[in-house]
This record gives sequence, structure tokens and C-alpha cells, in this order.
Amino acid sequence: MSFESLGLSSPVLQAVSEKGYTTPTPIQEKAIPIVLMGRDVLGCAQTGTGKTASFVLPMIDILDHGRAKMRMPRSLILEPTRELAAQVAENFDMYGKYNKLNMALLIGGVSFEDQERALERGVDVLIATPGRLLDHFERGKVLLNDVKVLVIDEADRMLDMGFIPDVERIVSLLPPLRQTLFFSATMPPEIRRLADRFLSNPREVTVSPPASAGTNIVQGLAVVAEEDKREALRRLIREQDIKNALVFCNRKRDVAILQGSLKKHGFNAGALHGDMSQPARMETLERFKQGEIQILVASDVAARGLDIVDMSHVFNFDVPFSPEDYVHRIGRTGRAGKTGHSFTLASPDEGSLVEAIENLIGTTIPRVEVSGVETVAFEASAGRKRGRGRGRGVKAASGERTRTRRETRKPRGDQPVEQQAATPAARETRPQRPQRERRAEREHHREPRTERTGRSHDRRPERRRERDDGAPVGLGDHVPAFLARPPR
Ligand code: AMP
Repeated sequence: MSFESLGLSSPVLQAVSEKGYTTPTPIQEKAIPIVLMGRDVLGCAQTGTGKTASFVLPMIDILDHGRAKMRMPRSLILEPTRELAAQVAENFDMYGKYNKLNMALLIGGVSFEDQERALERGVDVLIATPGRLLDHFERGKVLLNDVKVLVIDEADRMLDMGFIPDVERIVSLLPPLRQTLFFSATMPPEIRRLADRFLSNPREVTVSPPASAGTNIVQGLAVVAEEDKREALRRLIREQDIKNALVFCNRKRDVAILQGSLKKHGFNAGALHGDMSQPARMETLERFKQGEIQILVASDVAARGLDIVDMSHVFNFDVPFSPEDYVHRIGRTGRAGKTGHSFTLASPDEGSLVEAIENLIGTTIPRVEVSGVETVAFEASAGRKRGRGRGRGVKAASGERTRTRRETRKPRGDQPVEQQAATPAARETRPQRPQRERRAEREHHREPRTERTGRSHDRRPERRRERDDGAPVGLGDHVPAFLARPPR
């Protein structure tokens, strides 16, 4: 199929062809004609599938006729992160270069005044993160009753980040007669319920199985002691033929520390996390895109959905709290048919997180060893049933054999690790993630409150606030051996 057969106008087709795209991706092929018909769309698609153009291209044509009034945008696109919002804005600039549409980008970290000036001129397309949009609304700088097209992008991420109340409020401010396009990488029941409320008789478009890991990504996982992770990462980076790499950390604080450490060891490394100012985030991202920075250490919130052409490697310095994040992280590589590589460094206490990921992706991540770094086993406890170090299906990243702690360490429970392994049937059902992990993830992903209001609402004591993961301090998932022993 060609772009010409989708019903797009000549100026849009011209811009697409100048970009070098000849064939629409499956989501574009399915969604563009439906959007042009004025129907609501419920799209199940991840970033990397060409999803952005599937709504941007037809929206340019829909909005081409008509004029925006002062402070009354004609369309609204909600994005969970600033980077994604900026990426969508770039798409509008690129594909809309032969149309005269006014666009405004409302994201945190950028001055209110510039954004207000843009709103006053009248905008056809408003791209915003929910918090910043509501701030402008509350200041009376934007009115939403002329919005004719609404896009809610990355709905599952909005849910994870706790943005759904804001999104609900925004939708309540819009006219009921509108066209709504709703996209999510996954469709859990909460998301489906939201879609039912926001959409009217939508056409459903699904382009890839929810949360499947790309098949052209070569994955590996090394279990090493927490204190060996930096050394392991350096060795992996040196061993691999790296063009450019993203290194993900679970905590913002660790991003800066790891970047400093990599720089100290002579690597060309930058950092990207949610506490950086918006201009600094954009500048770092641009330098990474231009190849001036080779290794970018990042938190999930900053790197979500980043579209970097030809990324060769993704490293997980920590196992992500949410299994879906694993799929999103490694999906930054292996794009557009290219082969990508991902390596995950797991510490012995991250076994349950790895298990949740493997349940989600339906496969075991091949275990690798890092030469010169000791491979260890996962701790065995109530929530961490399977210990795996070297041995079982291990694929070596380097030919060298290393000493393992597994040979010397005893499992913590009464049973040997092997006997505690989950049954295949148990692995087929996806476990409910523990409350603690879900809360930790939500805390971790939430944009700092200061982005919206300049005030911090975090009243937790200093010591708790230092922990970006928000996890309770205490036993956590660990069950002492005496409690696990059966009663006599
Ligand atoms: P997205 O899923 O919107 O993040 O898009 C992922 C990448 O695919 C971006 O780099 C797009 O520029 C690119 N892309 C979008 N549409 C096409 C197409 N029809 N052919 C080739 N690449 C495309």
C-alpha cells in the first residue's frame, strides 16, 4: 500500500515523501483512513510503530480548514512526558511544513509567558502534558471548549504516572461533540474502562501484541553483586561494538552518580532525568541524537518513547520496577528493522522483578557472564523463587569462565533453590505486582510537582524523600528463614 491511497492531501504527501517514507506502517495504514472519516480511534500500539504520524498526518488535513480563536485551541494532544510532547511537535513541524497551522507546546520547565503568548495568537494544535495544561487553564489563559479533535497518547503511561485524574478533568472541560483518538501500548482493564468513557463508537486498531519485546533485539542478563554493577557495565561497554547506548537507572539520583563514574573512566557519557531543567534536557538529547554524546544515562521518565535512529545498545543498570518498562526500555534499540542489543544487570535481590518481566514477555532472558566479574545467583525468598546464575542455559558474552557465588552460597529458605522454581503453569499467568513495587514505580515516574506550580508538595521526611523509589524501609519482600520454615 502507498501513502497516496490513504486519502491524504497533496501538501501532506509531499512532506511525507520529502522525509523519505514510501510505505505506511501498519498503524498508519489502518488508522489514517479512519481518522480522516472523523471516527474515534482506539489504537493499541507502541512507540516505534509509526504511531505518531498515524494521527499527525490526518490531523493536519482535518485542521487545514478553519481558524483558531484567541486562547481557544482547535485540537489537543496530551502526552505523558515533555520529551514525547516535544517529539510530537517536531512531527507537526515536519509534516505540516506546507500547511499554515499554528502550534503551541505546553510543557513544564519552560516559561509560562512564552506559552501564553503562543496561546493568545490562537492555536490550531495544542500539544501538552496534563499538569501544565491545567495550570494554564486555572490561570485563565486557555479555554478548551473549541477543541474538535482530542488525542490521548500513551494512556497506559498516563495511568502509571498518576495522571489519569488530570486527564479526566481535562476531558470534562472539552465539548462532548468531538473526535477522540486514544492510544495505548497495552490495554489493561483500567485503560479499557477509560477508553469506554472517553470514546464514542470507536474503531479499534491493534498493530502488535501488547507488551511484546521486539524480535530483532538480542537480549542478555547478568546477575552480579550490586557493588560489581559499575565494573560489569564498563566491561560490557568495552566488549561490545557500541555506536550509541542508553543506560537506564531506576532512580534519578543514580543517573548522575553513574554518569560521573563513567566519565571518570573515560567514557563519553551524558545524563537525562526528570529533575533537570527542560532546556538542559533538550540540549542533552540533541547532543545525543547528533552523536556528540555516545552513552546517555537516563531515568525512565526522561527516556520514555525517545526516538533515536539507529541506537545500537540499551543497558539496564537496574531491573525496572515495572515489567512493561523493560519492554519500553529495550524497545529504544532494534528499531526500523535493525538489530539491537540489550543487557540487563540484575543484583541478587532483583529476582522477582526479572521473573515478572519474563512472565510478561513469555520467554527467559538469556543469562550472560561478564568476563572478570563474578556471576552470582538470585536470592531465594518468598517472592524470588528461581535462583539462576551460570549453568542453566547460560550464553556467555565472553568466552571466559568465571567463579560463581552460587557454588558457595546456600539458598535462604529450607528448600534448595531448584525445588522452589515456579512451575511452567504458574509462569504462564502474570502475577499481580506487589503493592510496594507498584507504588514505588508510581512515585518514581511522577514528574516533580515543582514542574507545575513551583512548589514542592512532598511532605515526606527528608530521609524518605531521598529514596526516589518511595519504597518502604524495612523487611520489604525478604522473609527471614525462620518464618519460612514449616510448623512442626
Ligand atoms: P513513532 O512510533 O511515531 O515513535 O515512530 C517511530 C519511527 O518511525 C520514527 O522515527 C518515525 O519517523 C518513523 N516512521 C514513521 N512512519 C514511517 C514510515 N511510514 N516509514 C518509515 N519510518 C517511519
